[in-house]
Amino acid sequence: MNPPALATIEQIGDVLRTRQSFVIISHVRPDGDAIGSQLALGFSLLAMGKSVRFLNEDGLPESLAFLPGSERIEFPPDEPLDVEVAIALDTSTRPRLGERALHAASKASLWLNIDHHISNPGYADINLIDSTSPATGQVLYELITKLGLPFSVETRDAIYVAISTDTGSFQYPSTTARTYDIAADLIRRGLDVGQTNSQTYDELPFRRLELMRALLNTLERSSDGIVAHWELREQTCVDLGLRPEDSEGLIDFIRAIRGVRVAVFFEELPEGKVRVSMRSKDRQLDVCIIASEFGGGGHSLAAGIRMPGPLEIAKARVLGAIQKRVEML
Ligand code: 5GP
Ligand code: MN
Repeated sequence: MNPPALATIEQIGDVLRTRQSFVIISHVRPDGDAIGSQLALGFSLLAMGKSVRFLNEDGLPESLAFLPGSERIEFPPDEPLDVEVAIALDTSTRPRLGERALHAASKASLWLNIDHHISNPGYADINLIDSTSPATGQVLYELITKLGLPFSVETRDAIYVAISTDTGSFQYPSTTARTYDIAADLIRRGLDVGQTNSQTYDELPFRRLELMRALLNTLERSSDGIVAHWELREQTCVDLGLRPEDSEGLIDFIRAIRGVRVAVFFEELPEGKVRVSMRSKDRQLDVCIIASEFGGGGHSLAAGIRMPGPLEIAKARVLGAIQKRVEML
């Protein structure tokens, strides 16, 4: 597969300036970078007097409702919207936008795709994919500032949360000097960094800790100590009243174990599907390549899959594929 033809910042700027109505969408089970990117670009467009709708297949996670402007995020309406331009953000493949969101955006005559996933094939008319960027929020910061578009309070806070959450609080190796420069600029623009971090990381619902307890009871490690994994059953989700966002980021705890190079989280989904989340600490163990073997994708150190179940079979297949890579080291 050839890498997609990439647009220039000016080409994107031309669309943003000349078109009037936009629908902005991010991936299913949205995280901080997905929602943050939508708000960042959308509020810049609103400040330009454009008409903007913000859709997400799964709606706004409760954990991100503190973001100013987040009340604008909607579930997709049943009827297609009358909009000129659809913008997909932080979404590596088109289906990850969700069926209802795709239907709601189906009348758009022009598609933009702005992302940082190396596995993104460039599925839109105009594609801006920067896989050197740790977050789509960082790609948008560069875009908005280079084009001199309005930089609203909503845009500022959303970009900070997008970058902070996708870099594991500025920790992952994808974090660069530029990332810190951007964070410093956001603080100079008036961001309350203490309060925003506290709203992002110190407001956990109690059920998230109950989930952690349930996950720890399933924790296992390969005999060489290189692979750690845990799992979540559908029944546990029901018993604890979990929301999809409750498991966000928990995999970092097992990724952090000394000696562990790959961490895997298996989650039973409705309709017999399984979600697999993978993290690596070792560039030679590229989890994006492993995810691709099963139709998933992401980044070399963080990737995911949605695959057929049952859980036991999915686990055996994925752990087998990882083991094969470990033996090749
Ligand atoms: P997470 O484990 O946090 O859900 O996802 C880690 C990374 O893998 C994210 O960048 C995400 O976009 C990507 N990813 C997660 N699940 C899937 C999937 O089912 N398909 C693809 N193509 N990418 C995924
Ligand atoms: Mn992202």
